[in-house]
Amino acid sequence: MKDLTTSTASRRDFLMAATTTAAAGASWAAAPPATQPAKPQLPTGILGKTKYPATLVSFGTVRLAERSDVRLVRQIIDSGVNLIHTSKSYTNGNSMQVMAEAFKAGRDYRERIMLCVKSFRPQEESEIDEILTILNIDHVDLLLPELHNATTDDLERIQQAQDNLKKKGKIRFSGFVCHGDLVGVTDMVLDKTPDFFDAALMGMALAMPADQHGSAERGNDQEADADQQKHFQQNIARLRKNGVGILSMKSGARQAVTQGYKAFGPHAKTVLAAGADTVLTSITTRDELEMIRRLDLSELKLSPDEQKAAQAFQRSRHSACRMCASCSNACPQGMPINDLMRIRMYHDEYGWSEHARTEFQLLKVKPEQWFTKCGDCTVCSQVCPVGMAHAREVRRVASLFA
Ligand code: SF4
Ligand code: SF4
Repeated sequence: MKDLTTSTASRRDFLMAATTTAAAGASWAAAPPATQPAKPQLPTGILGKTKYPATLVSFGTVRLAERSDVRLVRQIIDSGVNLIHTSKSYTNGNSMQVMAEAFKAGRDYRERIMLCVKSFRPQEESEIDEILTILNIDHVDLLLPELHNATTDDLERIQQAQDNLKKKGKIRFSGFVCHGDLVGVTDMVLDKTPDFFDAALMGMALAMPADQHGSAERGNDQEADADQQKHFQQNIARLRKNGVGILSMKSGARQAVTQGYKAFGPHAKTVLAAGADTVLTSITTRDELEMIRRLDLSELKLSPDEQKAAQAFQRSRHSACRMCASCSNACPQGMPINDLMRIRMYHDEYGWSEHARTEFQLLKVKPEQWFTKCGDCTVCSQVCPVGMAHAREVRRVASLFA
């Protein structure tokens, strides 16, 4: 940041704000340490075992970078959005600095939200200590360590670390974030630790209706894609039944927000109907915030016009990554193709080139891999249901940051 860093079943749980939210808020507030939800102005639902009445649309801070954004954060909280997700990796740490400044502004900005923070090294307590110091707070509400592969060792490490942090009062709720092997990870969590997590931040593109995604028009193995989608949707339903609240990301929400009310309303309803409890999106202007405030999410059933709008939007994303992970370990040369395609999304679709570069650096792709010589190999293009992953595209994305 330019100048701040130096200065320092159905929708069974659905509730329209009013009376029922007050009851949910009482239950949330009863759990120590007390954190009061914002005065409800937007529709809310209950976020799994946290019992928190999270607004159905919530705020992801990936675009916060400037001092002027502090005001936007306060406006977002003042408008009633009561769940915010942040990460130290966003905008080279500036995003978290903006959040720290917003909390300093008084009016209980910290206490009025559920603060969700991404974690890369949950087993190292110094990571959470550093985050608490930056934000000048004594705990985060929901910690979301990365869990992108179905590895039981990682799962055990995350559990142990979160148990420890909970005991010390540094976090209130346990979660994980996944935009990798969504089916494998959710299978593993349901099998090994069905009761442990309180919430999860998940890539939701895979859960979106296939007929609305447009993949039938251009992909390869459509049957496998449909099977994976069904499997993932069932896993989300089972997680929710176990009390795991679902935060949605990478559904295309940001793109829909930029297209306005007629695109974002139907899109948000589709994501919620697919199993999310709240739709995370970045919000970059007051106009976008006002548009979100005007949304009517009291009924998730789409009207015929909304259905058309939702389908048109999904078709416009026909080549967007499904986050199916079919390509994740497919490359004989070890290229992390699904990560590269996610980074392509940040760069090409969202225009977040700085964030794309940061994420690329986190991959630690070896220089000798940057210009992969594929020869006759077509493995990645054979497994991709949307025709996105292929040799030329993998090389192009890698070379953007090489
Ligand atoms: S075509 Fe190239 S990038 Fe794709 S799987 Fe084969 S070697 Fe890897
Ligand atoms: S690039 Fe294709 S195969 Fe890889 S995760 Fe995305 S949709 Fe799946």
